[in-house]
Amino acid sequence: MRPLFEFQCWMKRLYRQGPRFQRHLKLLERTRGYSEDALRFFQNEQLRKMVRHCCRNVPYYQDLFRELRLSPEDIQTYEDLKKLPVLDKKTVKLNFDKLIDKKRRNVLCKMGVTSGTTGSPARFLRDYNSINFEYAATWRLWHTAGDYGKKRASMRGGIIVPVARQEPPFWRYNPANLELQMSSFHLSPANSNAYIDEIMSFEPKILYCLPSNGALLAKFFRQHKKEYFFDAVFTSSESLESYTREYIEDVFQCRVYDWYGQAERVAAIGQCKHGSYHIEEDYSVVELLENEDDGSYELVGTHLHNYVMPLLRYRTHDHVYLSEDACACGSAFRKVDRILGRNGNFLITPEGCRISITAHIPCGIDNLIETQFCQKQAGEVTIKILTNGLFTDKDREKLISNTLTYTSPRMKVDVKEVASIPRGPNGKFISVINEIGMEN
Ligand SMILES: [Zn+2]
Repeated sequence: MRPLFEFQCWMKRLYRQGPRFQRHLKLLERTRGYSEDALRFFQNEQLRKMVRHCCRNVPYYQDLFRELRLSPEDIQTYEDLKKLPVLDKKTVKLNFDKLIDKKRRNVLCKMGVTSGTTGSPARFLRDYNSINFEYAATWRLWHTAGDYGKKRASMRGGIIVPVARQEPPFWRYNPANLELQMSSFHLSPANSNAYIDEIMSFEPKILYCLPSNGALLAKFFRQHKKEYFFDAVFTSSESLESYTREYIEDVFQCRVYDWYGQAERVAAIGQCKHGSYHIEEDYSVVELLENEDDGSYELVGTHLHNYVMPLLRYRTHDHVYLSEDACACGSAFRKVDRILGRNGNFLITPEGCRISITAHIPCGIDNLIETQFCQKQAGEVTIKILTNGLFTDKDREKLISNTLTYTSPRMKVDVKEVASIPRGPNGKFISVINEIGMEN
């Protein structure tokens, strides 16, 4: 089992750091220092190339441009994108095949699935080049923090060991990345000593985690009066509240670097050395659509690298507040004050673990339209579901068994069919509502 896992680790690394990886990374190291004008020029050039490709090879855009009586020459710059309608997830689902350039579809392409915060997953196809690019963008962030391949511990919500496992190890070693992959599902008060001991003996320099896991781990170190310092902590996938950041930084005596992205990979926001969030302007084209009610902006992104299934003007439904102040780092990337709408809420299991990644749970249950997890008491969850009317007892059993798999076998689960699920602020769907709060 172990040699197979190690082989897979090396293959994965080889795949992600393919022939284009170094070239992308080199270019990204250069473009990060570009002036605003140079960036716009660079971006527009890539955009024109992408639009030409869409009009030549992607049926969906061929039809769209014909309907709008536009030619690729009509889109010269970022501003010209407004001539096109925004693209939403529903349209992508309905036009999946038409959005693909069939000539580029090959065995090296990979399918990505988005949770659908709404519990209705959508599929996205990525090509090899774009996966190399994505990895290069991640490496650039690591370089910012002085990480050129240091030993790391990670806790990112994936299933590392079976969730039902009662005894350590709750981790495994990935030799290709010098990475101790730790389970997010077993980090509980009862296992806290085992986690601390393992980290202290492995001696990682970097922690790469979900903010909720990082905060809980920090809390255990403090509770047990154990001291450990990382060189940097990287967080992603959930909202990182400022008190969580400060707490993690205080316990581990290092800076936290947060990253925002999404499965569709149309926009990315990374944190610089000075702690400011910047839109990664050389990653994609990001338009900001203003929400007049609260002054926030929705991120709408356009691919520059994924030629097999390009998304132009894709709505993320994620909102940001912009910052007017210049950043001391001198970057020309737009500065973001706050990122809203990332699902940062978690469920607490009977063992006291925090599970924030619930996206896998509704997967494979086609009769579900929306799914929301509500928790009033630790160890118990009510799942509100909106169905297409064909939801069966078998679907219900599957939903419950998935919940037990991805949270805890001891979780008490109640499923409630509802007529609608109200939206949160900004009209954004909230997939987990936890009324217990951070202190418990
Ligand atoms: Zn900065």
